[in-house]
Amino acid sequence: MKPALFFEDVGVLTIPRQNISQSAPLADRFQVNHDAIASVRRLKAAGFILIVASNKPELSRGTISRRELDQAHGLLRQSFSLDDIFICPHDDADRCPCRKPRDGLFKEAAHKWHLEMERSFVISDKWQDAEAARSLGCTSVLLQSPTIGKVHRDFLVPNLEAAVDKILHLHGARQFTMA
Ligand SMILES: [Zn+2]
Repeated sequence: MKPALFFEDVGVLTIPRQNISQSAPLADRFQVNHDAIASVRRLKAAGFILIVASNKPELSRGTISRRELDQAHGLLRQSFSLDDIFICPHDDADRCPCRKPRDGLFKEAAHKWHLEMERSFVISDKWQDAEAARSLGCTSVLLQSPTIGKVHRDFLVPNLEAAVDKILHLHGARQFTMA
């Protein structure tokens, strides 16, 4: 069983472009966060399975197509050497088990990849991910932002680089304890 690193994509691995119409093609609405690539690479090197778990209600709402989302995911996978991407295509009214803060996406990933959730981490700038992590025993590391809310999170750090430093430190300590 391996540990995973779960990422929220928007705001962490990608940066939404400002001042662009929401009817523009998806590829024009965001850019890859190039500053994040080196940090994510350090996590890959440490043996984490890299997974994006993302709410995409825009699919239900019809403001993005499956095809352009697939293209965007191709770019994400390639840029960050991601192992997998799990999405919830539903909207609030659907009351599905996968829309974060529910933990369905994480459970699906855990099943498919045989993940050890207690050694896994979540990095996000949103409270919904901390909530999903808590219900499965993952450690949550939130990046300081206006969307972190007031739910329980294990760590709050200023940026992605600090998150990765924290995680590699904890991961190393856990391996030492288990050896
Ligand atoms: Zn869903």
